[in-house]
Amino acid sequence: MDNSTSTKVISIFIPHEGCPHDCVFCNQKKISGSVKSPDIKDIEEHIETALTTLDNNSYNIVLAFYGGSFTAIKREKQIEYLRVAKYYKDRKSINSIRLSTRPDYMKDEHVSLLKEYNVDHVELGIQSTHPKVLKLSKRYYSIYTINQAVMNLSKYNIDFGFQIMIGLPGDNRQRLINTCFELAALQPNTLRIYPTLVIVNTELQEMYKNMEYTPLTLLEARELSIIPYIIFKNLGSNIIRVGLHASESLLLDDNIVAGPFHSAFGEMVQSSIYWAMIKSAIVRYRLQNKNITIIANARDFSKITGNKGENRVLIKDYFNVEYKFQKNDSLKDDIIIQYENYDYLLRMKEYYNDIINQLTNEWHCKNIMN
Ligand code: SF4
Repeated sequence: MDNSTSTKVISIFIPHEGCPHDCVFCNQKKISGSVKSPDIKDIEEHIETALTTLDNNSYNIVLAFYGGSFTAIKREKQIEYLRVAKYYKDRKSINSIRLSTRPDYMKDEHVSLLKEYNVDHVELGIQSTHPKVLKLSKRYYSIYTINQAVMNLSKYNIDFGFQIMIGLPGDNRQRLINTCFELAALQPNTLRIYPTLVIVNTELQEMYKNMEYTPLTLLEARELSIIPYIIFKNLGSNIIRVGLHASESLLLDDNIVAGPFHSAFGEMVQSSIYWAMIKSAIVRYRLQNKNITIIANARDFSKITGNKGENRVLIKDYFNVEYKFQKNDSLKDDIIIQYENYDYLLRMKEYYNDIINQLTNEWHCKNIMN
């Protein structure tokens, strides 16, 4: 199977199973749309049904246990789940096994069990590394615990990724930058970025009602999400999600009380990056009041134009510039702005480096001042 093979995930949700914690933002039972953990027969049926439509010669098939803190479940129960997963992996019906958990349940005994059952990838729900943010979110671990978890996973050669949240109680831009740089040093293979939402029946809902917590606006969440997006993209991490997955039950039940939810949030973050790149190029190359051509990979056209054409409107309103597209599928993320006989190549990687330099300076300045 080559790297271009697309991935299909068979997800098994294990809502709140075994989790003794009460993070202020969490109501796993609602998020997963189910209150009962699946039993082994349910899991087998689910996998068999999924496999009837998936050919593992055509797809990279991942079996994923999501929703709770897997390694906090009773060991016997973990073994039951892992045995099923390993059975399908040994038969080569699936290609890999992944699961999510917390960093404080990644001690040697937890990781060695996962290794025994050939788990390939562990996603650690980090959320933040800042002590105040973690405390206010009722997550009682530290960067030391996170480092230990990563050391144990590396010792057993298990691939890992992180989940982080934007806009938790007590969080701010500086603390987010700090979280990102601390975590980037650990070089995760994957990253998920979730803006904090106020969900019904959570402590955060109470805090919101009592005006102890103010959620980010959509615009603030977008601007902040760019920080981890660029830092980890530049690192080579695979950013597998930006924004909460809009499970139908979540939306239908009106479970979101407040917060920066948008079904196209991830694409909006990428559009903001294109807007910033194009804006600075128009100024640098004095393209105001001109009609330009943007040459890009066709798959990036909608990100460049933005949700409901917002970037097209901004470019027109700010600079009186109109553009048409020209397709060049050999470009990957980079774009070319063409005006008359001039081609201006805007390299995404260079833009990332500029932003990372700015963030590094901001981080150092704040650390020196504090
Ligand atoms: S976020 Fe994870 S650790 Fe926290 S209460 Fe929910 S399931 Fe438990």
